[in-house]
Amino acid sequence: MPETAYVSTAIPYVNAKPHLGFALEIVQADAIARYLRLRGYDTFFMTGADENSLKNVRAAEVEGISTRELCDRNSEAFRQLLPGLDISADYFIRTSSEMHFRGAQELWSMCRPEDMYKKHYTGMYCVGCEEFYTSKEAPDGICPEHQRELESVEEENYFFRLSNYQAALLELIESDRLKILPEARRNETLAFIRGGLQDFSISRSRQRAGDWGIPVPNDPDQVMYVWYDALANYVTGLGLGDDDPAFKKYWWDCPVKTHVIGKGINRFHTVYWPAMLLSAGIPTPDTVFIHGYLTIEGQKISKSLGNVIDPLVQVEQYGVDPVRYYLLRAVSPYADGDYSEDRFRDIYNADLANNLGNLARRVETLAEKAGYAPPPPSAAPDAPEAFHEAMAEYRFNEALAALWNSADALNQRIEEVRPWDLQKQGDTDALLAFLEEMVQGIRVIAHWVEPFMPCSASKLQASFGGGPIKRGEALFPRLP
Ligand SMILES: [Zn+2]
Repeated sequence: MPETAYVSTAIPYVNAKPHLGFALEIVQADAIARYLRLRGYDTFFMTGADENSLKNVRAAEVEGISTRELCDRNSEAFRQLLPGLDISADYFIRTSSEMHFRGAQELWSMCRPEDMYKKHYTGMYCVGCEEFYTSKEAPDGICPEHQRELESVEEENYFFRLSNYQAALLELIESDRLKILPEARRNETLAFIRGGLQDFSISRSRQRAGDWGIPVPNDPDQVMYVWYDALANYVTGLGLGDDDPAFKKYWWDCPVKTHVIGKGINRFHTVYWPAMLLSAGIPTPDTVFIHGYLTIEGQKISKSLGNVIDPLVQVEQYGVDPVRYYLLRAVSPYADGDYSEDRFRDIYNADLANNLGNLARRVETLAEKAGYAPPPPSAAPDAPEAFHEAMAEYRFNEALAALWNSADALNQRIEEVRPWDLQKQGDTDALLAFLEEMVQGIRVIAHWVEPFMPCSASKLQASFGGGPIKRGEALFPRLP
């Protein structure tokens, strides 16, 4: 039985359309999942939508439709990213589903009773936001969003005793049993924990939540705070609460559990979430990989700047693989990155059209002329060591650089050997030996580029997989 692996993205709010920043995350997670499958892991890859936010209730009210209708419509826009970006997800979870409700309630019930307590508290509340603000967030008692005066509201909520887990969390992270990548994010988490952990609220009154959300077990006047509920998706999607064998297989017994998230939600995933799991007696994730933010032409993505790019429009224009390639190659996985149209076209032409695409074309042309028909490979070729080293730490850009070094070397060999001369001289033995070398080299790239550009990989595999080689269509037509 192969070992299992689990990969997830964060689940975005569905109150806005998906933009290129989320495309980055889902493509990164897809590359990880596909890589693990290539390495022989039986891999479960999950993404989805966070639907229990109060923001959805308010957005639906503005539009005059039900919250359910709004969620159905907006979640569909996110689900469309799966075929559009060639994402190999096994499941798309929606947190308004009954299955998720059952699972989140099961998780709540599994947490140690001494870790949860009900507390009266008085807070400064904005009716517009339907959120509490601390005196730090709103020092003058004015809502930073609405510029209106906050009301003093008294409410009784459940709290989670995070303070019980300070030592356990430190041990988990310092020992790398919970690995946080990159190092800077790991340090951020460690500093936060060492600074002392405060208990956090995990419920809202049902009324204040707009009657939308997951009822707390045995206390139907309270619904789960949206973060408790959203984090639970990582296990409810595997059927926790339904005795689904997938939960045991891909979480409980699984040695490779990876969350891919953005830097803004680090604390939720590396502090709150593992503490919730420790309390419930459930194994914690193995790795949390945290990417930076994407800017567009050097500017923050924002509706008011009008620079929100729909990833599917880019795919329409350039094809899915070039968009995936840019996100994985041109954006540093560990830092903030930028999307620029000029840079996209430069990289497309340099790396795809002129390098890999041209290499495949040249070898196809030579092989067709020579009538070369290699036997199919007897085993999957292995990648350069640098490739696997980079992928072990999700340095996608460096993994691709390792493959492109191989492509450079093959192109260089063509210039050195000058196979067209061998053809003219009728030196068939030398020519066939050279073509064999080329085909072996291209097969390595075709096999290991699959996690990044699945469609191009399968075209290369079809062309160089064995049997007569024909000059096909250009893999990446040059952009003007
Ligand atoms: Zn407000």
